[in-house]
Amino acid sequence: MFALITLDKKDFLEWMRSIEAKWQKRWKEAGVFEPKAEESKVKYFLTVPYPYTNGPLHIGHGRTYTIGDIIARFKRLTGYNVLFPMAFHITGTPIIAISERIANKDAKTLDMYRSYISSYVEDREKVEEILESFKDPLKLATFFAEKVQSDFEALGYSIDWRRKFHTGEPIYNAFVTWQYNRLRKLGVVAKGEHVVTYCLLHKQPEGEDDIQDADVNPVEILEYTAIKFKLEGSESSLLASTLRPETLLGATNIWVNPEAEYVIVEFNGERLIISKKAWVKLTHQHVESDIRILGELKGSELIGKTVESPLGQKLLVLPAAFVDPGNATGIVYSEPSDAPYDYVALIELKANPHLLGAYGVDGRVVENINPIKIIEVLGIADHHAKAVVEKYGITSQLDDRLEEATREVYKEQFYNGKLIVDHPDFKGLSVPEARDKMKKKLISDGKAMVFYELNRRAFCRGGGEIIVAKIRDQWFIDYSAPWWKDKTRNLINERLEIIPPKYKKAFQDVLEWVEKRPCARKRGLGTKLPWEPDWIIESLSDSTIYMAFYTIVHKIREYRIPPEKLIPTFFDYVFLGEGCAEEISKETGIPVELIEEMRKEFNYWYPVDHRHTGIPHISNHLTFYLFHHTAIFPEDKWPRIISLNETVIREGAKMSKSKGNVIPLRDIARNYSADLFRFYIASAASLDSVLDWKQKEIELVLDGLYRFTNTMLQARSIEGEIPSDFYGRWFASKFRKIISDSRKSMELLEVRDYVQKAFYHVMNLIEQYRDLVGENYLKAVKYISEDWLIMLNPVIPHLTEELNELLGGGGFLSISEWPTGSRYWEDEESEVLVDSLFALVEDVRKILEVLKKPATKAVIIVAPEWKREALRLYREGKGMKSIIEELKSNYNLRGRELEIVETVQTFSRNPNEDVFKTSSRREYEVLQYSVNFLERKTGLKIEVLWEDEARARGIPRSEKAQPLKPAIYVD
Ligand SMILES: [Zn+2]
Repeated sequence: MFALITLDKKDFLEWMRSIEAKWQKRWKEAGVFEPKAEESKVKYFLTVPYPYTNGPLHIGHGRTYTIGDIIARFKRLTGYNVLFPMAFHITGTPIIAISERIANKDAKTLDMYRSYISSYVEDREKVEEILESFKDPLKLATFFAEKVQSDFEALGYSIDWRRKFHTGEPIYNAFVTWQYNRLRKLGVVAKGEHVVTYCLLHKQPEGEDDIQDADVNPVEILEYTAIKFKLEGSESSLLASTLRPETLLGATNIWVNPEAEYVIVEFNGERLIISKKAWVKLTHQHVESDIRILGELKGSELIGKTVESPLGQKLLVLPAAFVDPGNATGIVYSEPSDAPYDYVALIELKANPHLLGAYGVDGRVVENINPIKIIEVLGIADHHAKAVVEKYGITSQLDDRLEEATREVYKEQFYNGKLIVDHPDFKGLSVPEARDKMKKKLISDGKAMVFYELNRRAFCRGGGEIIVAKIRDQWFIDYSAPWWKDKTRNLINERLEIIPPKYKKAFQDVLEWVEKRPCARKRGLGTKLPWEPDWIIESLSDSTIYMAFYTIVHKIREYRIPPEKLIPTFFDYVFLGEGCAEEISKETGIPVELIEEMRKEFNYWYPVDHRHTGIPHISNHLTFYLFHHTAIFPEDKWPRIISLNETVIREGAKMSKSKGNVIPLRDIARNYSADLFRFYIASAASLDSVLDWKQKEIELVLDGLYRFTNTMLQARSIEGEIPSDFYGRWFASKFRKIISDSRKSMELLEVRDYVQKAFYHVMNLIEQYRDLVGENYLKAVKYISEDWLIMLNPVIPHLTEELNELLGGGGFLSISEWPTGSRYWEDEESEVLVDSLFALVEDVRKILEVLKKPATKAVIIVAPEWKREALRLYREGKGMKSIIEELKSNYNLRGRELEIVETVQTFSRNPNEDVFKTSSRREYEVLQYSVNFLERKTGLKIEVLWEDEARARGIPRSEKAQPLKPAIYVD
């Protein structure tokens, strides 16, 4: 045992680490987090998505899992039978891609994985051996799965590890096989032509999970309208793309990038000019057509030429640096009235017309090009693009803020814009109506086509460029089926609780736009598509209802049921109650009782009461989680609560491998401590704020835990009851309130507030009590110690278990009960009166500051009861006249009407409900009782008088005494 009280902080941290390992071992040996299905107990099934095991996890992941664990532990203390399981996700291509790079001796990958392994394994030879084994993707996946488990254990997570599995295991494959057979019967899995994100390097569709940063910066497929502009004197057309085809009505010219490479291609019998990069995309979006390159040219060669638009406008081709050959077709038309980019490019060219000389074009041609107003938005008289560009102060077409300006105009016009053109087909239409109409018209006339492009440049984790491709014969899930959307909409709108509630809108939005989505690939780890086994179900599609598997997987293992017996009818019965247990037993050889037992387990634990994860999961995983549940399970098995937390940054900067500022979870138990980490994560930010990891703040948290621990240990040998005087009653009553307030905060998942109350508010309370009573304060600490430790157990489980034991408590705090608080006095009057003592000390100090002369004595003057009575009457709504009358008849106040008026007026300026919880007699008693305390805190001789006594002695301003605001006279 360390002699704790004399420990310095460095040793304290080491001591924390040593007790953490000890308690983790004890919890494990006693199986305290391995719940049984017990009908008599109310269950709480909490899940956090299983981690992807292609490498070690870092503190960003740690935030989500720690919050999950704090919730699990809190629910356990409030009487629930909590199931908190965990598994590992290995599905898809990323792990295979790493294995391949390791097999190919890719130096960067080898270095990275060598360093990952070295953080767990010391022996250098062993490290190389393990690295070598990673050529087998399953070895890589299971190595990190094991390490993630040990990291989680080292953080004290209360996980039931009997239920762990990974998504490459045959028993899991059997489960997903069942799921996909069900989905296919429902008609939501189909094969067909599909637009997908596609990797040019790996030549296959790749989704969010494969694309770099797609979880934080989503990749979306946009549908451009590519419009043909006939080049005069040629058979070719320039293909200019736009997201706003209605603006063709206001087109003034064409922009090309003079430096970019363009090609003339033959496409369906037509000759089109597009950027060379666009050609690659076009071939992937029209695999059925043979798109040949007929010739190449530089953008500069097109400048000065004239084209004719589908509406018959004759337009000049002009140069613009902002045109990106890598975006859509690499050519745009200019509509400077509504497009900020076009407006700025035009202004720049007008200011430097001589630049056109380089292309053999007379600079004067730009003089006649002016924005044409075609869209009216109420409140904007000028050209909309001009107004916004001037507001932002943008002067260059390469200014990044043009993106934001564009979005602003687009949004405003989308909702509030009206077409004010002469064209009979478009006049008076709203912007979205005009957009759809123009697009349909141009396409049906053969004057335009759809061109797909991403909302941003994107690369896969293996470095391949991602484009949009159209795939034939792709298996996809059709989330747009109306019956399915209706059911899921009903779940989100009517049933599901989302915390913090502000994220509900995001769920509703995703629900409306989600459509078809590829669900299988030709490569990767995972489960084969049951009816076409050369396809593998991809990672966002095999992770939607696996929480159901947690409810029975430990039984499958316990009874060693082999995967081939886990046939679809088995799951039909266990999860849906369909079919007949006897027949399934006959077919599989699994005993009927066992099948019934698993059915019971599922029925007890399901649905998932609560799923907690990070905000980036809303648009993919969580949405699919909801959809698949509504498709497969009856309503009473649908998810109930989803809660979310924001991400983690470090010292103000995003964490990234390239910056080298990532803190792996592995380092927490080694360089910090589990409880220190947990406490910091819980207290540093509310769930909906980004958590900025700051070393300085962690030191402060460590200080706090150190003080807390020492206070507890000092109280260890204290004997005797807490006195029932004003102070003892004040302390107990305040603590009683904190018990219920901190519980309320946790129930609302205001985890930060919970730590503020349960830890810092109690620490302050103890400090104040010490101020009042001196060293006797430890009696109060001892008095609350057990309850206080329980309240803090969810956030610092190891430290609280240890202190409980050191203070003589037995058993596991982690499975005890949240205190009811009923053993503490409930005494609001003492709370208010002792609180106001501290306020009084502050008031005296302020007076001394203003006085600037040495003082020796202060008289505290207490207001008489009639003043409280006046305020009571005022609060009842009585008028001043009747207040005065009533008081004059009950008290002897003749000639003191003005004082009554002043008392009421002072109060009405700054009403304080606490006044009505107290009596004047008690106020006087507490002050008398506290003369010592007041003298100690102010350094003055203190005398407490009733107002009437003070007046009789002629002490000035005595009549200013108010209820809870005694008058202070300093001598
Ligand atoms: Zn790729």
